[in-house]
Amino acid sequence: MKLEITTANAQETESLAEKIGKCLKGGEVVELTSDLGGGKTTFVRGLAKGFGSMDRVASPTFTISKVYKSGSREMHHFDFYRLPEAGLMTHELEELVGEKDIVLVIEWSKIVQDVLPADRLSINIKLTKDDKRLLQLDLPESLAYLVQGVPQ
Ligand code: ADP
Ligand code: MG
Repeated sequence: MKLEITTANAQETESLAEKIGKCLKGGEVVELTSDLGGGKTTFVRGLAKGFGSMDRVASPTFTISKVYKSGSREMHHFDFYRLPEAGLMTHELEELVGEKDIVLVIEWSKIVQDVLPADRLSINIKLTKDDKRLLQLDLPESLAYLVQGVPQ
């Protein structure tokens, strides 16, 4: 299924993501694509909050990945902007995909497409002319519970 939502500022993007984050069970994969400054990390901030993590969310561009804890569950946040080739990351992701207490969130996911499960939430963010953001969500029916509280 596909959904399109426009947000007027970072707060709106964050609270949309927070709603989705609250629905995460564990085991899901979320991928985010957009141009630089599109709002991917902003979205992850809301997602982690909804997931129940108090950890600080920042772009892991230089460290490649960061982990946010929520009780016994973890959100692994990857940013592959500077990764020239998938290489070892392929193995790292393969180990994490489908782990029931782990949610994977991946910025600039294109380079690891082959490793991602078909059942995932894909979000593409576009800047609109009036500096808003158009969030295009694409997800299978099996993940419909993630967007239940989201206006359509
Ligand atoms: P990315 O991770 O895609 O490079 P960031 O989330 O780091 O993007 O940065 C997005 C920037 O755009 C932030 O400075 C944020 O305040 C700003 N912004 C303006 N409008 C929005 C919006 N509707 N949604 C998200 N971010 C927005
Ligand atoms: Mg980012």
